[in-house]
Amino acid sequence: MTATALVWLRNDLRVTDNPALHAALRHGRARAIHIEESVSRLRPRGEASRWWLHHSLNRLADELAQLGVALETVAGETEVELFKAIGQHGAGSVYWNRRYGPVEREIDAGIKARLKREGIETESFAANVLVEPFQMATGAGKPYSVYTPFWNTLRKRDIERPLPRPRHGEAIRPRQVDIGYREPDWGRKIGGHWEIGEAAAHERLERFLEQLVTDYPEGRDIPAKAATSGLSPHLAFGEISPRQVWHAALAVAQHEPAKASAIDKFLSELGWRDFNYNQLYHREDIASVPMVEKYAHLKWRHADAALKAWQRGQTGIPIIDAGMRELWETGVMHNRVRMLTASLLAKNLLIDWRKGEQWFWDTLVDADPANNPGNWQWVAGSGLDASPYFRIFNPVTQGERFDPGGDYVRRWVPEVAALPDKLVHQPWEAGGVANYPEPIVDLKLSRERALEAFKAL
Ligand code: FAD
Repeated sequence: MTATALVWLRNDLRVTDNPALHAALRHGRARAIHIEESVSRLRPRGEASRWWLHHSLNRLADELAQLGVALETVAGETEVELFKAIGQHGAGSVYWNRRYGPVEREIDAGIKARLKREGIETESFAANVLVEPFQMATGAGKPYSVYTPFWNTLRKRDIERPLPRPRHGEAIRPRQVDIGYREPDWGRKIGGHWEIGEAAAHERLERFLEQLVTDYPEGRDIPAKAATSGLSPHLAFGEISPRQVWHAALAVAQHEPAKASAIDKFLSELGWRDFNYNQLYHREDIASVPMVEKYAHLKWRHADAALKAWQRGQTGIPIIDAGMRELWETGVMHNRVRMLTASLLAKNLLIDWRKGEQWFWDTLVDADPANNPGNWQWVAGSGLDASPYFRIFNPVTQGERFDPGGDYVRRWVPEVAALPDKLVHQPWEAGGVANYPEPIVDLKLSRERALEAFKAL
């Protein structure tokens, strides 16, 4: 009788285009395991991510059961838990898809070495980026630090074709998985905005490519519109792979040439994800260490009351508050507004970007170890291909430009809903409105203060 093959699932919660699962199934009897890892050097998962993970694992357990694969979930120290499962099931082989954070890679390398020492077959695969970071280098053999040349190279690469759904084994009865998670009150509220799991991810992609992509180049900057794919949490948990997104989009571009240039724009945004994974791979810890060293010396302000007002959507600046409330209610925030809220925190308020990054990490359902810190460093100016220090978004003019009718701010900040369009982004010009705070910061003075602090570097 062949020994059990174990597939260790991490951020690849899908059955299609999952090479580790394919490898395990080739061996006949496959089981799957997910470990909620408690290793002190690993960044603990944020709350919104835990919520998504819980539901995603349950969807996946059903999918895997159809293939005859049982999924078990355990929590604890990674190596201890994995080897316990190997012992319990008499596993003769272990497979996984690679991840790219420095601590995660160290854990995986240690486990791989021990598996080999103990004579257990093991193999890891590329599945979670378009091209693995160690296969991307400049002409001088260095990691890319500027996006445009990175994208020009990536765009020409032959991206591997996704694997199909593996062939059926004998289906088994699905079991609920338990990661020790109890649904919080806010879970139901956020849950109203999402369909979780692999099938939902593919439906979203299909709908986006059919109905929305043509408007993407213009519409993607308008927060009141649902003009983007909405795929980010699905990608963050690997319910869909970037290769699947890439090839599905290219197939549509081929059949409908009128959509080709919009699809190119969409793929160039997807390319940022790989770019951030390159930073994650090559740097020490992008969530805590500025990529440009001099930014470590910036004199941040300690302003707890302002930080709290920012987190709660009570800054008195409507587009900022709209974004922070959207995040709290839905678990995501529109990309343009992410840039504005991050800029207000790190520049106007001069509060350490890491505090904002941590808040996003906790509250975003798409919280991603590469994309979240990578983008925060981009906004704060300490990233490699970052926004220049003197670019400090003005939330009023940005609001007027990207939310000209005020639909977005009215949706999330009802206090200002009755104001005419020309005042909706600056209620203080109307003498203020009831139940809504005065701005916590003077935009002009705080801009000058930030410029001075950044210039002093
Ligand atoms: P679409 O426009 O449909 O793009 C498709 C996919 O491309 C996205 O799902 C995402 O995987 C990728 N992508 C798009 N824009 C970017 C970008 N700027 N950087 C990296 N990848 C991108 N994205 C996350 O996935 N997780 C995060 O934790 C995260 N934190 C962010 C924090 C800040 C301060 C900022 C400014 C941006 C952050 N982003 C993050 C990037 C971006 O805002 C989201 O990916 C996007 O809003 C998700 O919506 P969508 O899936 O509809 O995007």
